[in-house]
Amino acid sequence: MPIYEYKAAGEGCKYCRNGFEIMQRMDDKPLGECPKCQAVVRKLPSRFRACIVETPDEVAETESKLHDFEKEGMWSHAAELADKTGLEDRAREDYKKAGYEM
Ligand SMILES: [Zn+2]
Repeated sequence: MPIYEYKAAGEGCKYCRNGFEIMQRMDDKPLGECPKCQAVVRKLPSRFRACIVETPDEVAETESKLHDFEKEGMWSHAAELADKTGLEDRAREDYKKAGYEM
């Protein structure tokens, strides 16, 4: 499942002010407000939208990026990247580490 990032359009609360990530199905409606304070939120473009793996170079780059995220403990980022590149098992493991129930 893809992870989307949202950020408060205005003041927001501690949770949404600096942006937050949420896992949604492709066909879920985008969030319109913060689940905690109901402030209006905007969807941020996914950081990896442009990351389409095509060449061996890109595969290697993705792999190293994935490795970096895992090293930094950025599990949700690693999971999303793994998910997008078809590494399902890896994605599942990273989602779990990110604290998502699969
Ligand atoms: Zn909020």
